[in-house]
Order: sequence, then C-alpha cells, then structure tokens
Amino acid sequence: MKIICIGRNYADHAKELGNQVPSEPVVFLKPQSAILSHKHPFYIPEWTQDVHHEVELVVKLDRLGKTISEAHAPRYYSEVALGIDFTARDIQSKLKAKGHPWERAKAFDGSAVIGQFMSLESLGKPVQDLRFSLKNHDDVVQKGHTADMLFSVDRLIAEVSKFMTLKVGDLIFTGTPAGVGRIKSGDRLVGNLEGHDLFAVNIK
Ligand code: ZN
Repeated sequence: MKIICIGRNYADHAKELGNQVPSEPVVFLKPQSAILSHKHPFYIPEWTQDVHHEVELVVKLDRLGKTISEAHAPRYYSEVALGIDFTARDIQSKLKAKGHPWERAKAFDGSAVIGQFMSLESLGKPVQDLRFSLKNHDDVVQKGHTADMLFSVDRLIAEVSKFMTLKVGDLIFTGTPAGVGRIKSGDRLVGNLEGHDLFAVNIK
C-alpha cells in the first residue's frame, strides 16, 4: 500500500506558511514504514527541533483504479479516518529553499498517525461536510471542515489516478487546515471527527 499526501489543500493553512494557493494539488508520498503503530507513542527524532502536527482527513481506497473520473470517484472509497501528517518543519524549510523533495521532512518513521476508520454511512454525512479537530490535552489546536478543501476528495482521486494506479488499501491524507504547530514531549494529541475520538498519541 502507499500513502498519498496532499499539501496546501486549505487556503488558511497555505497562508499561515506563506505559500501560494496551488492551481493543482501538491502531491507527495509517505512509505508504509511511516505508519505509527497503534497505541505507540511518537518519539521526536533527534535530528529535528521543530516537528509540527498536521491533522487531516484520511480516505481509504477500497477499489483498484486508474484514470478515475471525478464523477466515478465516490465508488472508490467508503471509509474515512483522521490522521496526523507529522512534519519536520525545520528540515522541510531547508529542502524547500534548495528545491529538493520533502521526504526527509515528511516520510520518516512514525510520521503517519492513522486513527480508527469509520464508514461514511455510519457518520451519516457526505465526505465534504465533515468537521474535525485536534486537541492537545484539553486545548483545541486545530479545527477543520472538509467543505473548505481547495480540491475535493473526488477531485484528488481523479487528479492522482491520472498518473498513479490506486490500489485497495491505499490512503490519501487530504491536507491540513490552519493551526499547525510544534509538538513537545508530554503533549497528548487527540483527533476528533464528528464527535468521535479516533486517535490519541502521546509525544515523547
Ligand atoms: Zn499535511
């Protein structure tokens, strides 16, 4: 399986990092080894001083497809989760300045937190009308509404499947809203989707 990630998919987040709003999706990958094992803490790597949390809606593909049209895209997924795209912002800034790929800052072990999946049917709402948040202990640090995505889930599936076959079990991290910030030892991050806590991660 592969983890497809979308950068700058919420205008307010693009703005907080001083990035332009993109005219087409910004796409990068994380390897399977990036997945943080269930209920394990996240250990901040020693080579970065500035890991940020990015809470994101995660969509799981449950059908194989290539060059999927936006109209047909809803047939390719039925479950969503929340996740964190941990990002070593200091490393990413250096890579961006050099025009290099982002993998050192985005694809490291434990950088993909994936919560419990829920069916859209059980959520009872369309994928573009889901509200989510990230809390650090009792403080809400990020809040999002999937209606604010620049590129909808269906559009993302259409765009990505133009150049990459999507397989059963592949995941799409759909981008983060504003409010990203540095994590530190002792933090406890809890992701909530439509009233359901879907993950809790302790930071060490
Ligand atoms: Zn992200």
